[in-house]
Order: sequence, then structure tokens, then C-alpha cells
Amino acid sequence: MASIQLRNVIKRYGKGKHQLQVIHGVDAEIGDREFVVIVGPSGCGKSTLLRMVAGLEEISEGEISIGGRVVNKLEPAERDIAMVFQNYALYPHMTVFDNMAYGLKIKKVPKEEIKARVDKAAGILELGHLLQRTPRQLSGGQRQRVAMGRAIVRQPQVFLFDEPLSNLDAKLRAQTRIEIQKLHRELGITSLFVTHDQVEAMTLAQRMLVMNAGVMEQFGTPEDVYHRPASTFVASFIGSPPMNLLKNAPGGQPGTIMGIRPEHLDLADSGWPLRVETTELLGAERLIYGRLGEEQVIVRHEEGPVAPVTDAVIHVRPREDRVHWFDAATGKRIAA
Ligand code: ADP
Ligand code: MG
Repeated sequence: MASIQLRNVIKRYGKGKHQLQVIHGVDAEIGDREFVVIVGPSGCGKSTLLRMVAGLEEISEGEISIGGRVVNKLEPAERDIAMVFQNYALYPHMTVFDNMAYGLKIKKVPKEEIKARVDKAAGILELGHLLQRTPRQLSGGQRQRVAMGRAIVRQPQVFLFDEPLSNLDAKLRAQTRIEIQKLHRELGITSLFVTHDQVEAMTLAQRMLVMNAGVMEQFGTPEDVYHRPASTFVASFIGSPPMNLLKNAPGGQPGTIMGIRPEHLDLADSGWPLRVETTELLGAERLIYGRLGEEQVIVRHEEGPVAPVTDAVIHVRPREDRVHWFDAATGKRIAA
């Protein structure tokens, strides 16, 4: 069991004038048994951060501790972690059992113990009936479960996941997400999970660490991040469609951006006049894309029998207790 501390962690690649700083001082503490998701757009430094925890990348400055022990100088094998990647690279000629057992055999773990650990992991992951198959005879989702099994049998202090579900189709991804949650409930192993997918982050995380261009923008529960986004970046990255960010909202202050989520604008008889540009029916809900003066506003509401037509003027009212304010210069939330 282990907590993870990141203290002013900085990463630079390259040397001299080719040097590029990609992580700009991340401070965070991941609790023992906690499931934390690192989320942000492609290229923001998620994998780099995870790989520094794993020991696959050198830490340029700062300190990383696992279970109270500074690991900056420790090899990956000495850190008591197990990693699951997007490309899980199973050994094609080995059975599922042997794929899961391989790392333990190398470590000369006794045969009976290997069998016990593999059987237990296979039980948790419902792979028991597949142990004698080779990867070729498995579906993509089953292969990903074998990759997780290979990590579980090592009984590490920490699991590190780097976009492990990206190669799966939408249905399988949703299913595997539930399995990962179940796994975490049963094993309680401290986990760091990287994804660029905000829905995956919201559904899996106990807390999420939102990254933007090598900077940690916010570290909080999904509820915090959704209801009290720390910046305009977080406000527009988390939630789909994103929060409306209006520079010239009716009743707004100069130098202040108003944020209001599409689901917190109600259709009304009076209020903001919105010229309809287009609408999208999603099933239970309809999105209305409109214009309020110069600015685009998206409204999300329960679908009615009739869609507003293009160029019609409708009225919407923001729910007052759901309005957010951000400093226009810094993008930071203004405490309300
Ligand atoms: P993410 O996982 O969020 O997509 P990465 O951590 O892979 O982002 O990359 C963060 C930044 O660091 C990117 O700009 C990427 O180009 C750069 N980068 C990653 N690895 C290297 C490397 N080995 N050498 C130089 N730059 C790198
Ligand atoms: Mg990555």
C-alpha cells in the first residue's frame, strides 16, 4: 500500500538551445488506495508525468516519492509498480496463463504461488476459462484483460495505466471501465490512470488531475472539477458540449468572463434573446446553437416535439446559482 507524492516535478527534454520544458512544476499528493486520473489534451505531458513515476523517464527537477520513499534514482524494477499501456504487447506464442505468469517466473517465484496468483487474477477478471488460449484466440477486450492480469499478479504497490482503453470500441471501453472500477474496489491498489477522454476521466476518477501544456490546472473530485472549474481551460475541457464562456454577457463586468453550462440555460418567455443557428437532436436531449450578439451560445435541453427553426429568436435564462466567473486576463476562477 502506498501514497504517491509529486513535489515541484519538472521535465525538460533535450540539451542547450534545443532544450524544451514540457512539465512545469507539478505538486500533488495521491492518497494510499486512491484512484487518480490524469486528464488533458494530447501532448500536454500526461505520459511524461506517468513515465517519471514509473522510472522510465528521468526527473529533471523536483521529487517523486512512492510509499514515503524518494524514488528519483530508483530503477523501474525497484519501484514496486506495474504498468498497463495502450499497446499491451502480449507474447503471441504463449498461452494466457504463461503470459500472466511470465514476469513471476523470471523473478523465480515458486510454481505453486504463481499458479495461485494467476488463478486469483483470472478469477477477478473472468479469464478462468481462457487460460489455455493464445492471444490470437481472444477478442481485443479479453487481451486487454490479460494485460491487466499480468499487472495484477505482480501485486504491486501502485498501478500505472497509460490510455489502456484507447484501442477498444466504445461499448467495450464502457464495459472495461466498469471492470477497472471493480478491480480497484477489490484490490484497493493506488492507481494513476492517464487518458485524454474527459468522460473516461469523470467516470473512473476518485480525483482527477487536469493538465494543460505541462501545467496542473486543477486537482479535485469530478464534482469539484465540473461544478467549480478552476479556470476557463478546465471549464471548456470538462463537459460536452463545453461550458459557454461569454465576454459580453448581459449583466457581466468588463474584464470578467461569465461561464454557464449549456444544461444550465433554461428556455423562457423572456431573458437573453438568442438567434438560432442550428439544432441537433441527441435523443433525450436537443442542443441549440445560437448567437447572443457576437457570441455563440449552446443550450442543452430536454427535447420537445418541435425544434426551433434557424433564425428564430428564442429566449433563455441562466440559472443564477450555476453561473461561473473567470478573470479575463488570467482565465482563473474568481471565488464566488
Ligand atoms: P501526452 O501523453 O499528454 O499526449 P506526452 O507526455 O507524450 O503528452 O508529451 C508531452 C510533450 O513532450 C509533447 O510536446 C511531446 O512532443 C514532448 N515529448 C515527449 N517525449 C519526448 C522526447 N522523448 N523528446 C522530446 N520531446 C518529447
Ligand atoms: Mg500520452
